[in-house]
Amino acid sequence: MRRLSRVIKVGNVSIGGNNPIIVQSMTNTDTRDVAATVRQILALEAAGCEIIRVAVIDTEAAAAIADIKSQINIPLIADIHFDHRLALRSIESGADGLRINPGNMKAERVKEVVTACQERKLPIRIGVNAGSLDHRLLEKYGHLCAEAMVESAMDNIKLLEDMGFNDIKISLKASSVLLTIAAYRLLASKVDYPLHVGITEAGTKDRALIKSAMGIGILLYEGIGDTIRVSLTADPVDEVWAGYEILRSLDLRNRGVELISCPSCGRCQFDLINTAEEVDRRTRHIEQPIKIAVMGCVVNGPGEAREADIGIAGGSGAGLLFKQGQVVRKIPEQDLIDELLKEIYQEVEKGGTGS
Ligand code: SF4
Repeated sequence: MRRLSRVIKVGNVSIGGNNPIIVQSMTNTDTRDVAATVRQILALEAAGCEIIRVAVIDTEAAAAIADIKSQINIPLIADIHFDHRLALRSIESGADGLRINPGNMKAERVKEVVTACQERKLPIRIGVNAGSLDHRLLEKYGHLCAEAMVESAMDNIKLLEDMGFNDIKISLKASSVLLTIAAYRLLASKVDYPLHVGITEAGTKDRALIKSAMGIGILLYEGIGDTIRVSLTADPVDEVWAGYEILRSLDLRNRGVELISCPSCGRCQFDLINTAEEVDRRTRHIEQPIKIAVMGCVVNGPGEAREADIGIAGGSGAGLLFKQGQVVRKIPEQDLIDELLKEIYQEVEKGGTGS
């Protein structure tokens, strides 16, 4: 069962409680380059990104937020390290929330930031990162551990709470899946603030996808997590896609295409791998939920993929198009992909499969 967290708002997006689990990403452009940053955010929006975070490295970047905000449609979070003036400038520029580590700022500076957030009803994400944990805590516990990360988070939470501030979201990221899970579990037992979940510094795309699916997936399965980010050393658009795949795997959200394809075996008489890859590539932009199958043989394919809305099964020279496991017609091999795509687009235009 999902952990019931309190609800906060980032711009017009409600987070926590029974609200959908939100998919976030972070730009990797120079925030001062407004055109490039806007271009990337719009691509992320098209992929389904619901909240975007940008790095604010100096006042120019903080000022650029105003310009960026005027050209995008999703809430923007300013990511600040150390310098409270950048937080204040980002708020002035219209940021919808801040990600800071209050422990990195002097208490009176944090107070200034908190006051500015209170005036505008902006939330703050406390971002604890295993890689930059306070040395005092590392010495106290003797090594990096979940307890040290949670103590850092609790110290930061107390700092904000003592200032009368509760519009808080927390993340506790590490590159170790087990450490991340342990830390979130412990924190989830102590507070009811919404949690932003992810594995950080997870590696290059394929590796990070596996680590993120494990870490985020296990936590979500346990009901922990209100927003997610799949951190990849890759195009952030892939992060958003991966986020929805993880959520779909757990029946938590259902956006876009679910692709069912078999591993193929000795019965396969056509180029299944490239066919499936091409279908995947050419259907990633679809927002509407639909299950598509690309199967390796006409004998077992339609039956093995009977949960698919529409599918093809390849054969020697010709394949079959099927819907919900029932064969619809035979198609020459060279037309299989195009015919499948035509059927998919028709289905999507009709408004759906209801799956
Ligand atoms: S659908 Fe056919 S080709 Fe694919 S794994 Fe099953 S039997 Fe093998």
